[in-house]
Amino acid sequence: MAGGSGVRRSISILGSTGSIGVNTLDVIAQLGGTDAFDLVALTGNSNVELLARQAREFGARIAVTADEENYTALKEALAGTGIEAAAGRQALVEAASADAGWVMAAIVGTAGLAPTLAAAARGADIALANKECLVSAGDLFVHAVKEGGGRLIPVDSEHSAIFQSLEDDQHHAVERIVLTASGGPFRTWSREQMADVTVEIAKAHPNWSMGLKISIGSASMFNKALEMIEAKHLFDLNPEQIEVIVHPQSIIHSMVGYTDGSVLAQLGAPDMRTAIGYALTYPDRPKLNVERLDFVKLARLDFEAPDEVRFPALRLARTALARGGVQGAVMNAAEEVAFDAFCAGRIGFLAMADIAEEVMEAMAPHPAATIIEDVFEADAEARRRAAEIIARKEMAA
Ligand code: NDP
Repeated sequence: MAGGSGVRRSISILGSTGSIGVNTLDVIAQLGGTDAFDLVALTGNSNVELLARQAREFGARIAVTADEENYTALKEALAGTGIEAAAGRQALVEAASADAGWVMAAIVGTAGLAPTLAAAARGADIALANKECLVSAGDLFVHAVKEGGGRLIPVDSEHSAIFQSLEDDQHHAVERIVLTASGGPFRTWSREQMADVTVEIAKAHPNWSMGLKISIGSASMFNKALEMIEAKHLFDLNPEQIEVIVHPQSIIHSMVGYTDGSVLAQLGAPDMRTAIGYALTYPDRPKLNVERLDFVKLARLDFEAPDEVRFPALRLARTALARGGVQGAVMNAAEEVAFDAFCAGRIGFLAMADIAEEVMEAMAPHPAATIIEDVFEADAEARRRAAEIIARKEMAA
């Protein structure tokens, strides 16, 4: 039984059909499956077949597809099982509001914000993979978790590493955190070489197997930019305390530097199940069937300074951190629109950062968000502006 208490833990997975969702279910299976866990809600979007299979296998009470057009297919796939099928954005929020004590937030993009907020507001422990919640809603999201009374446990491997390397009651002695970045597939490429890359080339991450959005974000380093903002809010840091170092082997997942010169790090094979397992059983450590590090085989760990000229996303994150307010939401929303356009072959790889920067400039300064609707408004305006820039670029091409 989970935690050895004999009581099945109730959990939900928002985004169960994605890379993090599938890994979460693998961890759950390793830790006792349905004997140990009571699956309340599973959610997906386009992959109805997988969602239905997961719901049947893990005996979920509710399965939700975000896309209303998939409702009939989901209902048919679950016929006779007693599992409730639902569809649409409101249904996602309702599923997140159902009474699971632990919720994995693993929807990709800002679409994850409303359901994760709903789970946070009712006091669930949030295992946070969806970094966009913190990038967009920042302090408001942290406040919602505090008000709800649940815990916020990072799942992003870098933030999990920092979480694990932070000593209790020593926040005052933290000098800096060092986020490691693999550098992605274009670590050594020039901007000229990156100009014409396709989605197929950009998504081929050297170390990690992940969803499409984060894989492309690793290639452009937009993912690291989001992680810098995520770290600020998760660990209550000043922007100057956040460093990025390129570490091509992805073995050190991130580090914390203290005032006595010590640096604590968390290391492991590049496998998200370690961070997911830790978030599930925290403060205990689960027994997981994942690869163990062989230091003799590894032989060396390399480090390089990040290049903010070839990878301007890092510079944009610094700008967003310095400006504060809704600039994180603006950067993220503009980049999501630009990412979709890149995937559709409408713009080139390098244009993603150009578009995000243009929208950020156009929307600065911007009044800070005091309620969550301010965030949604800034997000919508940034999307509108990004779409206009893309249309203009297409006209000019
Ligand atoms: P995937 O693209 O693999 O999965 C995304 C999930 O969200 C799927 O379940 C997908 O459903 C669902 N989804 C997609 N669009 C919507 C929508 N509009 N509304 C509701 N649900 C939607 O992503 P990842 O698992 O890679 O990443 C998920 C989150 O975790 C991201 O925020 C990412 O940055 C973060 N993360 C991921 C890591 C990784 O290793 N993958 C590492 C660290 C953080 P469907 O597939 O059915 O369409």
